[in-house]
Amino acid sequence: MSIRIGNGYDIHRLGPDRPLILGGITIPHTLGLLGHSDADVLTHAIMDAMLGALGLGDIGRYFPPSDPKWKGADSLELLDQIYQMVQQRGWTIGNVDTVVVAERPKLKPHIAPMQQCLAKRLAVAADQIGIKATTNEKLGPTGREEGIAAYAVVLLVQE
Ligand code: MG
Repeated sequence: MSIRIGNGYDIHRLGPDRPLILGGITIPHTLGLLGHSDADVLTHAIMDAMLGALGLGDIGRYFPPSDPKWKGADSLELLDQIYQMVQQRGWTIGNVDTVVVAERPKLKPHIAPMQQCLAKRLAVAADQIGIKATTNEKLGPTGREEGIAAYAVVLLVQE
């Protein structure tokens, strides 16, 4: 059995008049994440972790913000494309573990729906997707609610 590990990080600014989408779930909030795509920072961190495990660069290589094609893109559809790359190379997902850093809103009620959404998309059980939420104790850009950040680790397995 072979294994591969990858890690990913992403941060997006918060701004008005945008939906807040994390892990494919729209979360009620007064602010949303700004970006060329739907700015789903959690899904982006997972995608980068997968690409890292495959040694295939980062999401900017495949979905450059300069390309109008990805404007307003549904990040779950981008995740599908990266997951296809994982499968095409004969890898399966061992597990995914993540941390979302957000001062507000409280993410606890949304963790299970995010977990289920991502697990379905990646054809794994919900307990193979770890999602943890933390504040940044009001420190730094995430603490000042200027943005939301996410970290992800992915383990890939090949029999
Ligand atoms: Mg991003």
